[in-house]
Amino acid sequence: MTMPFQPPRKKNPVLRTPQMNLPPGARGRVALGMTAAASEGRFELQVCQQCQSVQYPPREACHRCLSSALQWRSQDGAGTLLGETVLHHSNDPYYRERLPWRLGLVQLDSGPTVIAHLHGDVTDAPSRVHIGARIDRAGAAVLIAFAPGEKEHMADDKMLREMTSDPKFRKALVTDGKTEVGQALVQSLVRAGAETLWVGHAEPWKKVPGLDDIAALPQVTLVPLDLTDARSVVELAGQIGGKVDIVVNNAEVHRAFGIAARHGTDAARAEMDINYFGLLRLAQEFGPALRSRSADGSTHATAWVNILSVYALSNFPPHGTFSASKAAAHSLAQCLRAEMRPSGIRVINVFPGPIDDEWNQNLPPPKLAPAALASSIVKALQDGVEDVYPGDVAQEWLERWRENPKVLERELGAGG
Ligand SMILES: [Zn+2]
Repeated sequence: MTMPFQPPRKKNPVLRTPQMNLPPGARGRVALGMTAAASEGRFELQVCQQCQSVQYPPREACHRCLSSALQWRSQDGAGTLLGETVLHHSNDPYYRERLPWRLGLVQLDSGPTVIAHLHGDVTDAPSRVHIGARIDRAGAAVLIAFAPGEKEHMADDKMLREMTSDPKFRKALVTDGKTEVGQALVQSLVRAGAETLWVGHAEPWKKVPGLDDIAALPQVTLVPLDLTDARSVVELAGQIGGKVDIVVNNAEVHRAFGIAARHGTDAARAEMDINYFGLLRLAQEFGPALRSRSADGSTHATAWVNILSVYALSNFPPHGTFSASKAAAHSLAQCLRAEMRPSGIRVINVFPGPIDDEWNQNLPPPKLAPAALASSIVKALQDGVEDVYPGDVAQEWLERWRENPKVLERELGAGG
């Protein structure tokens, strides 16, 4: 059984913060198919369309019949551990700092044999395991063998915590506590064991329902934060930047309508100022602080979460300017992800469909409840997932967008 993760000791401020060494991350272009699936939490392997054989490692052609008709397909991961080894020595700086490290050879029921990191609960070979794909700290897909069934404190496994961004005992900043989504996020993070939560609130004189309940939680400190104001962001980063392990940017402005139904650019500017420039201001101030602490003990800085919108993929004309601001934010979030990767900080982009809030009152259901969105974000942190499409609407849009972006554009233009 996994030993429960203990709260880390207070850091000695005199000691230097270690630099991050990443695990070896180079992968061929074909192997990125596995990374793409793992970034959404799935374990996929190539399956030959001619002879149906499943293959690993990924290649350009089928290992059995040389056909190039290979498709990525979800795998259940069931298999048998054939043998294992424990590394006590490594020339790689990343693994050298984390020894001993268990690796095993697993024969999947679907055919191929894979090498996987072993979860602590996996018993000696031969034993039944199931393989899951995770993203390691270099951003590459790796395979992990788990013991069958749910075990207590499974997530606390030292190796698994390397692949995830579990909020347990960590300190997080939630940029806007005044919305229902922000408050649901705070509740979910507290339930997941976060140690400290700084919760931003712009315009503190405006009383909003629910904020007092959040502020009363022992883990929560309300902090003034206005993403439209560069000085406000700089000041907060000066106070807490060196302590934050997880940033959750949920601040957004959302107005209905597209181009013709509104006069002037004020509403569109307000959307851009928070949804795009707000993210930019936040990333400029908090990004370097997170990067510098990505190897700082067992609760090192670990993740940056952006709440985007599924409208970032394709414009939804009834919410046209909002869609445009989220598309801009999505593009910037990709830049942030690339810049954070060399430090091992994970950028998680969340693409919800319409949320059940005041700006979507006129949209018919189904709509995503704030609590469901918050749970999916905490789960993404715990599972180490990079891209999240929470709820049925987002899943359906993603499916349609993957199938044919042009068809989706036409359908959304005609009202969805
Ligand atoms: Zn084949």
